[in-house]
Amino acid sequence: MRENVLFSSPSYKFTLTPTHICFFSLQTPKLRRSRVRTKAMEVGGLDSKGREFKNAEEMWREQAGDPSKKCDWYKHGVGYWEGVEASVNGVLGGYAQVNEPDVEGSEAFLNTLLSERFPNSDHLAALDCGSGIGRVTKNLLIRYFNEVDLLEPVSHFLDAARENLGHTSSDKHKATNFFCMPLQEFTPDAGRYDVIWVQWCIGHLTDDDFVSFFNRAKAGLKPGGFFVLKENIARTGFVLDNEDRSITRSDSYFRELFQKCGLHIYQSKDQKGLPEELFAVKMYALTTDSPKRVHRTRSKVKANMPRIIK
Ligand code: SAH
Repeated sequence: MRENVLFSSPSYKFTLTPTHICFFSLQTPKLRRSRVRTKAMEVGGLDSKGREFKNAEEMWREQAGDPSKKCDWYKHGVGYWEGVEASVNGVLGGYAQVNEPDVEGSEAFLNTLLSERFPNSDHLAALDCGSGIGRVTKNLLIRYFNEVDLLEPVSHFLDAARENLGHTSSDKHKATNFFCMPLQEFTPDAGRYDVIWVQWCIGHLTDDDFVSFFNRAKAGLKPGGFFVLKENIARTGFVLDNEDRSITRSDSYFRELFQKCGLHIYQSKDQKGLPEELFAVKMYALTTDSPKRVHRTRSKVKANMPRIIK
């Protein structure tokens, strides 16, 4: 996986062909190691300059290991976006053409989820986290939800969102609240949202803040409500972007964090149709209740196994 970030912007990142990871995946005749499962956070990672970290702990200690480093981490993250133009192209890191497949992929995912979880609801509310200029709300959420709140720490993005959404809102579908705040400082009103949408911004949060954000935000969900997390995915470990202070986590890294948050993956789906040079993108629907297992009296595998006559 050498996921070496060349040009960055958290929403879109170029990746290079793996020289590194090829090294690990070469099928040389080596002794097979016993199958001890390594925790995702113990897997090494890289930064955008190609520097290696032994594990996530080492990286976090260095980047945000004390209050002043942590303060710098967040200051640089928001500072990066303060210098970006308030446009679709800006929030998509120069990849405006990704807007369309992204919205289509999200809509298909959301549609199924809403019909399964809220088949008869006549009033739905959503929160768009790290909303930027309101791209996701304008192109998707506002059509499905009666009320959408937006949360965004960069004020010129939020001003643009207010402007962009003014034209789209109607009596029945409107952007209600605009919170100018980062995720790590936000606590939603209890039981306000059916869906909390978190897209292309969670990489700015440290692991600790990731877990405490989702734990606080759980209380903001209505019964049956869920999170959608849509993010770039590293092939293994993580990739730190030195420029905007964000990290791209692997699927197993995310799964470990979800477990720490007490969240369950209700559904997940890969985003299709993005340019090849970008990181893979995944959508996760996360719930606080564990998904019901389909009860089978006899597993298919067993049913297909020949019986042993003793
Ligand atoms: N989700 C939007 C914007 C993606 S760009 C979209 O898909 O169009 C990344 C966004 O994350 C920027 O708007 C940036 O300001 C925001 N961001 C950066 N740090 C953040 C933080 N700590 N909490 C919440 N949002 C953050």
